[in-house]
Order: sequence, then C-alpha cells, then structure tokens
Amino acid sequence: MAEAQIGIIGGSGLGDVLIKQAGGNPVALDTPFGAPSSPPVLANWEGTDVAFIARHGPGHVLNPSAVPYRANIWAMKQLGVEAIIASGATGSLREQIEPGQLVLCDQVIDKTFRRESTFFDSGAVAHVEFAEPFCPHLREVLTRAGQAGETVVHPSGTYVCMEGPQFSTRAESNMHRAWGGDLIGMTCMPEAKLAREAEMCYALVALPTDYDCWRPHDAGRKQDELLREILGNLKHGTDNAITLMRAAISLLKGAAPTCACRDALALALWTDKGRLAPAVKERLGLLIDRYMPDSSDKG
Ligand SMILES: [Zn+2]
Repeated sequence: MAEAQIGIIGGSGLGDVLIKQAGGNPVALDTPFGAPSSPPVLANWEGTDVAFIARHGPGHVLNPSAVPYRANIWAMKQLGVEAIIASGATGSLREQIEPGQLVLCDQVIDKTFRRESTFFDSGAVAHVEFAEPFCPHLREVLTRAGQAGETVVHPSGTYVCMEGPQFSTRAESNMHRAWGGDLIGMTCMPEAKLAREAEMCYALVALPTDYDCWRPHDAGRKQDELLREILGNLKHGTDNAITLMRAAISLLKGAAPTCACRDALALALWTDKGRLAPAVKERLGLLIDRYMPDSSDKG
C-alpha cells in the first residue's frame, strides 16, 4: 500500500480546498471501523508524502456527530502516518481571538456524548494519558512556522468541543467562557483521543470564523451580511491555515519528535495480554502487535 508520513484532516472550508490543491491521487481503503469520510488523497508537499482526508466528506455531507472519526484515524495509521495536523472552524469565546486569525489549541474540554471515542471498545482495555491532548512537539513546530508568517497565530487556547449540530445558547456560551474556554467547535473530539490511542502526534489549527453568541452582534447588522462575513473569514482563515501547514511540514523534515505520543500505548494496555481473544488481536493488530509478547518488533 502507498504510504504517507504526515496526515492532514481538513475541516469545514479546508477539506475540499485542500483536496483540490493537493493534486494527488485518492486511494480506496477500508478499515475495521468502516470507510473514512473520503478516500485519502496522497500527494507530495514540500518533499514530504502527505495524506489528506476531508473530515465532512466531499461536498460537506457528514455532520459533526456522523463523521467516521475512528475510520479516518485508522486509515491514516494504515497509510503509515506518524503525525496529523487537523483544522477546524470554531467560534471565538474571547475578544482578543479575532475572526480570521489562527489558534494552535493546547487544551480541550470534551462535551460530546454520542460518538465512538475509542478503538478499545470490546475485549481489550486501554487508558492512554491525555493531560496534554495535543502533541507538544507538533505545536512547537507549528508555532515556529506561524512566527514566520503575517497571520496572527495564537500559540495556545482551550477548545470546548460540543456535540452540535446546533450552536450554543447564550447561557451555554457564557458558561464555556467561565470554564476557561477560548474557542467552541464540534469536531476535534474524539479525533485527538483516537490519534493518541493510535500513537500518532496530533495538533489542531483552529480557525475562528466569528464570535460565539456571548458577544452581541453590532446593532443594525443584517443576517445575510453576517453570514457573508463568516464565510469570508472562513476563506481567509483557510488560506492562512494552508500556508501555515505547508511551512510546518517543511520544518518537520528531519526534526526528531520529542514527545511521548508515539509510545502512548506502552503502559496503557491494561488487559492481560494472554487473555486477548484472537479476534481482538486480529482487529486491533495495527495498534497492538508491537506490544504482543511474540512480536519480533517490540519497537
Ligand atoms: Zn507527538
């Protein structure tokens, strides 16, 4: 099978644009968790083999609850991806995070409740560390890439992930601010959790497209005017995010990871390895083979 080192999961706005720009070849593949949102497209960016997936599928047909997160992450793992850079449209919960800027999130509050959020759902139990939900190495590289550009890139931020698809009430929006949230979005969970279970580095480039409803709109603004502004910010943020990702991929070449993501399962598999059913070993082999006692690659 074709291989890629870096995976990019493009969110609203970015997915379709990226796949068009990438100019590569789609590969049809299946996973034990179904088909990914879109066939991964393989292309070469800055001398690196990259796999792209449009999170919401071609034409944005999958809502945040319906995205096959497990299949997307598994597909990336199957392709040999070691690090994922994802993007996602968000609402800003802070005055100083302005629409059109970019945020490299460092924390998350997970409010989702109807998504499959682990590969270890049956016959095997794993508890991975998640105090730092985003890879510090990848974030550091993205921060450096951001410093070289003209766009304002916030080096940290707390992302509140809600189920959606409806947006927050004003009371919820105020509560998210009181919790310490900086951005509200609907997609980075369980994606980041699954990437950790799959021992891949994962970072999120968040695109704030507007202020969430805690902030009253300017009086007299018409609804269609606001929507045009949001779409304009999404387009602007998308272009900036692509530039940032390209610069980061270039910096990543030859940079040895300094994080623990790639061995996240080493101490996390709590099930007695002798009691893993053959079917479970077979299904999860891509993740756990290296930890099986009879494995020749103990990596
Ligand atoms: Zn990492």
